[in-house]
Order: sequence, then C-alpha cells, then structure tokens
Amino acid sequence: MCDKEKEAMSILSSSSSKLHLLLFPFMSKGHIIPFLQLAHLLLRRGMHVTLLTTPANHPFIAQSLSGADVSILDLDFPENIPGIPPGIESTDKLPSMSLFIPFVNGTKLMQPFFEEAIQTIIPKVDCIISDMFFGWTLESASKFGIPRLSFYCMSFYTMALVEDVMENGLLSLHESGDEPFTVTSFPWIRARRNEFDHPFNKLDPTGPDLDFILECKTATDNSYGMLVNSFCELEEPFVEYWNRKSQSKTWCIGPLCLAEPSKIDAGTSQKPKWRRWLDEKLTKGSPVLYVAFGSQISIPAKQLQEIAVGLEESRVSFLWVVRNAEEEPIHGFEDRVKKQGIIVREWVDQKEILEHEIVQGFLSHCGWNSVLEAICAAVPILAWPMMAEQRFNAKMLVEEIKIGLRVVCTDDGTSNGFVTNENLKSSVIKLMEGEKGKALKKVAKGVAEAAKRAAAEGGSSWHALSRLISEIQSQKEIKCSYLA
Ligand code: UDP
Repeated sequence: MCDKEKEAMSILSSSSSKLHLLLFPFMSKGHIIPFLQLAHLLLRRGMHVTLLTTPANHPFIAQSLSGADVSILDLDFPENIPGIPPGIESTDKLPSMSLFIPFVNGTKLMQPFFEEAIQTIIPKVDCIISDMFFGWTLESASKFGIPRLSFYCMSFYTMALVEDVMENGLLSLHESGDEPFTVTSFPWIRARRNEFDHPFNKLDPTGPDLDFILECKTATDNSYGMLVNSFCELEEPFVEYWNRKSQSKTWCIGPLCLAEPSKIDAGTSQKPKWRRWLDEKLTKGSPVLYVAFGSQISIPAKQLQEIAVGLEESRVSFLWVVRNAEEEPIHGFEDRVKKQGIIVREWVDQKEILEHEIVQGFLSHCGWNSVLEAICAAVPILAWPMMAEQRFNAKMLVEEIKIGLRVVCTDDGTSNGFVTNENLKSSVIKLMEGEKGKALKKVAKGVAEAAKRAAAEGGSSWHALSRLISEIQSQKEIKCSYLA
C-alpha cells in the first residue's frame, strides 16, 4: 500500500462513523451564505463537511469558513457559455440579470467534473445537499446511489402561494395584472398577478424561465427531500400547506443565520469604520436606519438621488451600503450629511450591523437572507422589494408577521414603481419615529425570540435536523451492512 492509500485508509477508518455531507451552493452570495451557515451547523452537529465551489468563489467561502474544520473543493467553472463573459463565476458579477438563465443552465456543463468529484472524495459522501437550482445533480447522485437533498433559501409562504395560484389557475382570472384575487387555500390573502415575478406575471407563462423552474421542481420532487431555511413557527399555515402538497419530504431547519457565531460582542480590536461609527451613534443615542439592497441589485442613478434626498430630509441617522464602489448618489452628498449618515462601499458584515443595538430599522429589498437576519435581530423592515420573490417576502412581513412597512411607490401607481424622495422620507420617519414603528418593534422582539427558540437545542428546527441526520445515518448503516 502506498503512502497515499494508507492516508486514505486512515481517514476512512477514523471517520467512518461520521456522516460526510457534500454541500454545493449555487454561485450567488444569497445562496452561498446560507450554505456556509448550514456548514457551521452541520459541523456543530458532528458531521464531516465538504463544500464544492469554483475557483473564483473559493476565496469568499474560505474566508467565511476560516478556522472551521471543513474541506473546500473547486470544480472548474465552464468556459464558453454563450452570452456569459469569460471569468464570471457568480451572478453578482453578471453585467445584467437577463443573463441568469444562460448562466444557471451553463452550470450543467459541470456535471462530468461533479461526478468525478463525488466518486473520488474521501471519505465517501453519504449525502449531497445541492442548491435548488442544481436539479441536474440529482441524476449524478442517483447514478452513485447517494441521497440528494435540495436546499431552498426561500420562504414557505412564497412556495405555497405560487403553488396555489398555479394549481387553481388564478393568474389568468383577470386581464389586468393589477386586479386583485383571493388565494384559494389562504382566503385571507388578496394578491395581484403583478406581485409575481417573471414568468408568473404573464397571463400565459411560457419560455426558458418557466422551463427552468419546472425542471428544478421535478428534480426536487424526485430527490430524497428538501431542506428549507425557515422555521415552522414563522409561517405555520404555509408550512402545513407545503407538507400536505409537496411530493418530497421537507425539513425546516432555519433560520440558519443563527448557526454562525455572533460577532457583535466579540470585542475585536480592529473594528471596521462602519462599526466604530455605529458605536458612536450608540453613545449619542441616535437610532440608525440601515439601508442595503443585497448583493445583486443595481439601483439606477435617478433612484439613488431620490434615496439620498429622502434620507437626508428625514433627518434620521443612516448607514447606507452601496454596491458599486464608484457610486456617489449626489455630488458632495457624503460630505454634507457626514454628521447624519455614512455610505459604505465595501462588503460589510450585515448580520453584525443588524445585531448592533443602535440599528432600529432596515430599509431592505427583502431578499430572504436579509429578512431572516432582520427577524433574528428584531429589526423592523421598511420593505422595498425589487425582483424575484422579494415582493412575497415583503407581503409576508407586512401582512402576516407584521414586522414590516411597505415603502410607498408612486410613479406608475403600482407597487413596482419609482420611489420619490418625499415618499421615502415619510416612510422612514414612520418606521423610525412613529407609533407604527414602535408597534412593529414590539412584534419583532417576539418573533426574534421565537426564531432563537426554534434554532436552539430542543427547538423545532433543531429537532428537524436531528431527524434528518438519523435517517441518513441509518441509510448509511444499511448500506454498510449490505456491503459487508
Ligand atoms: N451581505 C453582506 N454584506 C454585504 C452585502 C450583503 O453580508 O455587504 C449578505 C447579507 O447579509 C445576506 C446576503 O448577503 O446574507 C444577501 O442575500 P439576500 O437574500 O438578502 O439578497 P440577495 O443578495 O440574494 O438579493
């Protein structure tokens, strides 16, 4: 036996009782981050974890998991995907989100490398947890007899609403997309077709987006099951609906952001500028509005200017993260408002910001991770959804959980339009200084407690993960005894 083989045998025998889970996130921050949180959680529960990614995404993952006992393996990202500029390996780098479908479909070219990896990884992989967008990984998992779990970083509310309106043909009830209808299984909910994202906002949805969604769903239905980053207590009727309707077994294991150790009290000596600024605001007792729109969205210059004026005129202290390093909303703005607000251009630790005691409100695009992070930190949301399922997240926050306010859009009279500085100013004041804001904060505190209980030992999400682990463990034992 050569040294390499000996080493492999020793790894095998020392970890044969440990489950080895292979995690494979889609290449966007909103998908990678909850996978990293899941990795932390699985490590804490005694699992052996390997993360699969691509070279350009490796540094972000390695940095986020530094110190954790986890292996990271790179698969080459396919070259020559039609329409995708060379070197781009994540959706936040795409010149336009209209390239999403070619990008995500292009990942299918990774299948041979994926299969090579799952055959050669040591110790043997007991379960593959791959992104909901990687339906193609099911075929490979099945080929090698490994159970595949599909990981969903979205709410049950969204999944249930889409399922119900599709099943009952509600999207084609009215010619106008702004005409409200009642959602059959949730009669207290009124929805409009225009609240749905492409392709469901069409009278007769067809095309590559729909094909892709159906492909992912079919793969999930045929997988071992699905994992959802949410907690049952947050959205009970929708979880129950999903469990009744879904063809795949579902485990609700979130909110995963609680799996990562909190940095807020870590007392690091090297605090970033924004952290020192928040600490100063705390000393002065000036509540701060955190303004951020996730890792994907590019705000047009005209809208940036309205945000800047609206924030300034609200006189509320703000910390605003902009995506583009060159972005200056208005010439001289930063200098003028420096006592009131700060603009940050680098990647921030959003969780740490939301957990800071002086942050009392969050102007957010309502990406699901941002929503969960705000929920766990008990920060009420001023909801400004822009794309994908964000409108549903906002709707749920405002109508169901009641920890959010909708920012008023006026331009075209719909909820998808332009936000003027006057509307932004009044919404910010309502959230940060009005009675409504106080009421939302009170509810938010209760929801944050429920989130912590769900994720803690003995909570609903903790139990769900325990059940899943013991299922996979017994599958492994059956397989081992069969092979023995
Ligand atoms: N995020 C962060 N720092 C930044 C920008 C974003 O930590 O400077 C994180 C944020 O905390 C969240 C994720 O990126 O976990 C964004 O995911 P979300 O679902 O909210 O929105 P998306 O970016 O997918 O639109």
